[in-house]
Amino acid sequence: MDSHGTWLQTESEHYVYYYRPNSAAAADIESIKTEQERVFTQLNQLLGTQYNQKIHAYIFNDLADAGFTDKTGQAFPILNTIEVIYGSDGYTIGKRGISAHEVAHIITFNAWGPTDLRILSEGIAVYMEHVTYDSEAKYGSSQMIVAALVAHGDLPNIESLASDFEQFDTNISYPVSGSFAGYIIRRFGMEKYRRLFTEGRSNHFAADFKSVYGVSLSDVENTWSHYSDKSLTQ
Ligand SMILES: [Zn+2]
Repeated sequence: MDSHGTWLQTESEHYVYYYRPNSAAAADIESIKTEQERVFTQLNQLLGTQYNQKIHAYIFNDLADAGFTDKTGQAFPILNTIEVIYGSDGYTIGKRGISAHEVAHIITFNAWGPTDLRILSEGIAVYMEHVTYDSEAKYGSSQMIVAALVAHGDLPNIESLASDFEQFDTNISYPVSGSFAGYIIRRFGMEKYRRLFTEGRSNHFAADFKSVYGVSLSDVENTWSHYSDKSLTQ
């Protein structure tokens, strides 16, 4: 990990935290610990896992401190490590909702297995932000973005998102994946999602979807996008 500069270190049951002296994170470290432990337990319940390894969380002050140019957080599941920010550029740890994202990457990769389907790995991480949040306003945000894309005829199709996630702007790919993940999890359950996550491959996603779910991807996609369409007017 990039460890230029000084780190202070502290631990809670499931994390080791590294944070900068005299930083916003240093001032709020106790509330960060409380939120991250809370979400760790909630994620295990939601994902049906019993993940118990310690996560190393490097808390940078801002994007420049982290060296991030195109992201606000990062997970290294094999190393049980996350890199996050807490300060003037925003928060990717310690706040309800976003507290779940990088931790969900760590738990799904290590408890379920690796996947080459970013639509599913980002999808579950974004969906976990929503379901671990305590406000309805935030909960519907991915759905709202999907509804707006549908209204403009700009919703990417799921198969191209599965086969070439990187070609899409992250402001589209992340919420669309989160909304689709949430839809198939609510409709078909977490266990089937886990199976598709570990058994599916990006180059034949539609076939893998059919073999896990027993229904065609295009049928489910259709129902999902119309469902999102309606949510705009609520
Ligand atoms: Zn992510």
